[in-house]
Amino acid sequence: AISQRNGDSVPRRKPTPITRRETPPSSEQETSDHRTIDSDAEDEDEENSDVAKIMEKLPKGIDPQSAKQILNDIVVRGDEVHWDDIAGLEGAKKALKEAVVYPFLRPDLFSGLREPARGMLLFGPPGTGKTMLARAVATESKSTFFSISASSLTSKWHGESEKLVRALFGLAKALAPSIIFVDEIDSLLSARSSGSEHEASRRSKTEFLVQWSDLQRAAAGREQTSREKKEGDASRVLVLAATNLPWDIDEAARRRFVRRQYIPLPEQHVREQQLRKLISHQHHELSDADIQVLVQVTEGFSGSDITALAKDAAMGPLRNLGEALLHTPMDQIRAIIFQDFEASLYSIRPSVSPDGLRKYEEWAKEFGERG
Ligand code: ADP
Repeated sequence: AISQRNGDSVPRRKPTPITRRETPPSSEQETSDHRTIDSDAEDEDEENSDVAKIMEKLPKGIDPQSAKQILNDIVVRGDEVHWDDIAGLEGAKKALKEAVVYPFLRPDLFSGLREPARGMLLFGPPGTGKTMLARAVATESKSTFFSISASSLTSKWHGESEKLVRALFGLAKALAPSIIFVDEIDSLLSARSSGSEHEASRRSKTEFLVQWSDLQRAAAGREQTSREKKEGDASRVLVLAATNLPWDIDEAARRRFVRRQYIPLPEQHVREQQLRKLISHQHHELSDADIQVLVQVTEGFSGSDITALAKDAAMGPLRNLGEALLHTPMDQIRAIIFQDFEASLYSIRPSVSPDGLRKYEEWAKEFGERG
């Protein structure tokens, strides 16, 4: 089912306290320039004191309990993705640079007619790099990154979610420049939640739209009142939202996203680029011809399916060893070969069906931008 998250084994963004500098497997990390609250904190004590400092200066009107929850669970720290980690999606990268990264780095150039949009919707099949793109935007624009899943907002924080939304936007302004990334936005802005759905999720939807409108007003060049200025820089907060179910977003909410970027399945050359990168640091014996075959047979795979395939194939040499694995020296482990991929292709299948894909293409044609 297309609504289902792909069961890849790559750690997804998780709303647990992120206390350690995590390095994505695909990136050899250069020095960090991701603007984080605790960019150099190595231990929890330091981080706690960062949180404490922010809590001390908390703007009025933000519920302290919600703020703490956001600082602990929703602000992502030290979890960097750079443009080069993401295979393909050149059009989307370009659009995001123009819409977010450059304006955040050079706000003086982007005013008046060049005022950037306050929100962008990334839509497409699951596992195509939407979350990675949002993370890269935060890294490259040196922004504080707030990452929240809309479905957890309405389920986990039920009843509290309205307060949480208010605190989320409040903190984003206080710690601007900020990116608020809302995954599974459909569950917050669906046509259904305005109908017979639970009162609490309707209220959090309304609160989200109200808070977002405030940002949009700030972007439209309206003078901020001195109270608003004290609360932070609303003009440097952007909502990035992702969905696998764009058709579930109600029409009014959809129109608020001036920019709607289609994140499609990877094309042939992108699959090749990704495959080559995944095996580049591995001991393998795949020839160029082997790679060409793999590129052909992975038509319809998402980026996440390809990662899952490569990870499974990489297990091949170990699987063959059985128990001997426990005492075989590293240099005697055989290389990954084409047959490992062949075997993995039996179990790792594309997570989007051709029918499902057609639905995205149609929605993109009607409502989206490509690239
Ligand atoms: P989405 O948010 O679209 O569901 P993610 O960005 O979470 O997808 O991607 C899931 C995983 O799949 C990533 O962690 C990465 O390993 C892999 N992946 C997906 N798309 C790409 C891509 N374009 N380039 C490199 N890896 C990708």
